[in-house]
Amino acid sequence: MTATAQPTDVAYRGPYGLSEEQELFKRTVHEFAEREIVPVAHDLDEKEEFPRATISKMAELGLLGLLVPDEYGGAGVSTLEYVLAMEEISWADASHSVVISVNNSLVCEPILRFGTSEQKRRFLPALAGGEYVGAYCLSEPTSGSDASNMSTMAVREGDHYVLNGTKSWITNGGESGVYLVYAVTDTSVARARGITAFLVPAETPGLRFGAKEKKLGIRASSTTQVFFEDCRVPHDLVLGNVDEGFRIAMATLDGGRIGIGAQALGIAQRAVDESMRYSKDREAFGHAIADFQGLQWRMADMATRIEAARLLIYRAARMKDAGTPFSQQASMAKLFASETAMFCAHAAVQMFGGYGFVRDYPVEKLFRDAKITEIYEGTSEIQRLVISRHLLRE
Ligand SMILES: Cc1cc2nc3c(=O)[nH]c(=O)nc-3n(C[C@H](O)[C@H](O)[C@H](O)COP(=O)(O)OP(=O)(O)OC[C@H]3O[C@@H](n4cnc5c(N)ncnc54)[C@H](O)[C@@H]3O)c2cc1C
Repeated sequence: MTATAQPTDVAYRGPYGLSEEQELFKRTVHEFAEREIVPVAHDLDEKEEFPRATISKMAELGLLGLLVPDEYGGAGVSTLEYVLAMEEISWADASHSVVISVNNSLVCEPILRFGTSEQKRRFLPALAGGEYVGAYCLSEPTSGSDASNMSTMAVREGDHYVLNGTKSWITNGGESGVYLVYAVTDTSVARARGITAFLVPAETPGLRFGAKEKKLGIRASSTTQVFFEDCRVPHDLVLGNVDEGFRIAMATLDGGRIGIGAQALGIAQRAVDESMRYSKDREAFGHAIADFQGLQWRMADMATRIEAARLLIYRAARMKDAGTPFSQQASMAKLFASETAMFCAHAAVQMFGGYGFVRDYPVEKLFRDAKITEIYEGTSEIQRLVISRHLLRE
């Protein structure tokens, strides 16, 4: 799959300033998602089954290595195109898009930015080609928002580190080929200055996985605890510099948040699309319910919020592509888009009435899936904290 980077001149077309190639790319991903993912999403959610077959198809389309350059087997597209793909896959199913999100922005991107050339050659082609997916292991049972307060330890023994500890809520847990793990390497300094990032291959002795969490939403994705019991990791699998892992973790999440914003946007767009269709068909009091002003206003509010979320997300992606600081804009995009997803999914369930409350119709799943976007990669409260810190610093 190819798509060119956003032109820097004013050759913008359409309301979002996408080039023709980007519009085509978005449409291609949408058609793929509608054809391959929509028909299986409901069933996978019901069975809480990891979508291996469709992940392979996403890999064939280049969706697992969107940000990975061609030389490592990726599609080598920009962050903007990455979010276009996230939006369209999420429109079909958020359990599929969370795999794309973690693989691209939480695993491939830090390897690209901070990895040695040997680490890039070893892991990126496999991650981009779908040989395996990756996982990002930061959260622990007693540290989530306060991520640097972790307990997992890595102690140096000769040319290895020995890892011990437990990571929680790990997306792709038990399904990944490589785990990007953050552990404390220096207890004599403030935690944020004594954490190191490690690339831990799945076959490493001492690596164990808990049972799949029973979740409210994104039920087809795998979320598990990951246990490290005297896990010996060679020094050459340290990602970046020793004791500088927390910086990697935070920089990685800045980029990831734009992708989660796009996930929320896709869910919100699907909610409005389903609502529009249903409201034209469903009749009450001798009218299609779309004729009632109460519903029309609700749809107008949904569509307006979606437009605003889309503009925030595309702006943050463009800032990242341009190399300008984007942390505040990424948080704003994720915060607004995730609250928009909740607003739209809630409105959609209401518009469907009783049919919104049952699993035979798609909006019930959207309502459940939307919630996670307000929680992972930093809760809405943490996004507000990030935004206000930037404001107060200015
Ligand atoms: C399905 C799922 C998948 C996930 N995938 C991953 C993954 O792949 N890798 C990974 O490392 N983690 C993952 N997570 C973990 C996720 O990032 C954390 O759950 C999230 O960061 C919140 O942490 P916590 O659950 O410990 O909540 P806590 O940090 O305990 O927060 C509890 C509440 O307190 C609020 N709060 C905390 N601090 C403040 C503050 N300073 N000001 C105001 N309010 C505050 C929070 O916003 C929240 O409402 C996943 C979680 C889920 C549910």
